Amino acid sequence: MKLPQTAEVVIIGGGVMGASTAYHLALKGCRDVLLLERESFFGMQATGKCAGGIRYQFSPEINVRLSQLSLPMLDRFEEELGQPIDLRYCGYLFLLTREEDVAAFRQNVEMQHRLGVQTEWLTPAQIAEMAPLIDLEGVLAGTFHAHDGLADPNSVVQGYVSGARRLGAKLLNDVEVIDIHVAGERVQGVATTRGEVATSVVVNAAGPWAGVVGRMAGVDIPIVPVRRQIVVTSPIPEIPPDFPFTIDFAQSLYFHREGPGILTGMSNQDEPVSFDQSLDAEWELTHMEAAMKRLPILKRAGLASHWAGLYEVSPDAHPILGRIPEIEGFYCIGGFSGHGFQHGPACGLLLAEEILDGAAHTLDITPLNADRFRKGQEIVEYNVV
Ligand SMILES: Cc1cc2nc3c(=O)[nH]c(=O)nc-3n(C[C@H](O)[C@H](O)[C@H](O)COP(=O)(O)OP(=O)(O)OC[C@H]3O[C@@H](n4cnc5c(N)ncnc54)[C@H](O)[C@@H]3O)c2cc1C
Repeated sequence: MKLPQTAEVVIIGGGVMGASTAYHLALKGCRDVLLLERESFFGMQATGKCAGGIRYQFSPEINVRLSQLSLPMLDRFEEELGQPIDLRYCGYLFLLTREEDVAAFRQNVEMQHRLGVQTEWLTPAQIAEMAPLIDLEGVLAGTFHAHDGLADPNSVVQGYVSGARRLGAKLLNDVEVIDIHVAGERVQGVATTRGEVATSVVVNAAGPWAGVVGRMAGVDIPIVPVRRQIVVTSPIPEIPPDFPFTIDFAQSLYFHREGPGILTGMSNQDEPVSFDQSLDAEWELTHMEAAMKRLPILKRAGLASHWAGLYEVSPDAHPILGRIPEIEGFYCIGGFSGHGFQHGPACGLLLAEEILDGAAHTLDITPLNADRFRKGQEIVEYNVV
């Protein structure tokens, strides 16, 4: 397809955030939307490399509320968009090994109950009954919410891409945005590897590259890339179909069933900010040693695949969602810091409302505004994995 010379809205980035925004703009009647993705396929970066976890268990209210909007959208996804997304509600099981985490999670569970999320508090004996394959050494307590689980990120992106196209939006691959034209503090257009597009609205949905795209418009968007790795094992027949998405919270170590094997990840807290997506073999060893201690049956499995991807990290591990105040017509949907896939449906809808109606109204997103870092209004999140 030829690059259009104008568009009402240009979206930079075709991961879950860009695709959801394009779909929801078009659904609300704004059809002259142009999404530009530099890769040859959509969803190849953070979204396609993610673990697919979806949960209600968060520590700040805003994340629970985003889940309460977003996860029901995933429930309705196939009906609305005609695209199956392999939804599995296996539950999320958090394992707590530090007294301070036990105290913080008690408060989280209270808040979750207040919002209507029925997270269960578990003793080690109850965890042993629920997940007998897990070694519970050092585990003091746990939390479990049965309606947390998994969905397939690539299917969600594809569903939104096809849905947006059916509504008339244009979504192009192999087009890189290389500059954003701003005059008189207003967006005027973008320069791409295939030519210029005039527009008065630009959405920065560039994920780990959101900071780079911000600089194209001359603004500081504090979102940085941090490498995270995943290992998927060969089949382990003993893993039951209802094996929960298990998180050893203190170690940032997680497991879930992936086909007939296990997918596991562990966050290296000393990982420097960088766009490096090569596999760190040394960290993989550290990760697998910890994983085999917690889930000893992994010793019997082989390696099926492994990869590295990038978290898009903001200073308070929360998204920057909405208008960028310095430049009229410039919006950001980024900085989800490792748990954005599940909030893609909700955030695309909320940003479409902000762009077309002047403010998001399905949920108040003012706590996620770009100005909060300058004003010292950062959000405190405890459940970052
Ligand atoms: C290992 C790992 C595990 C994760 N696990 C989970 C999980 O279990 N649950 C969960 O909810 N989240 C998880 N996440 C986080 C989740 O993947 C992200 O929060 C989410 O996918 C971000 O989506 P995005 O659309 O902002 O970014 P991306 O998917 O990275 O999309 C941004 C797109 O912008 C494109 N782009 C960048 N610059 C330009 C440019 N100049 N011109 C054109 N295109 C450009 C990129 O090519 C990219 O495709 C995980 C992430 C990783 C890395």
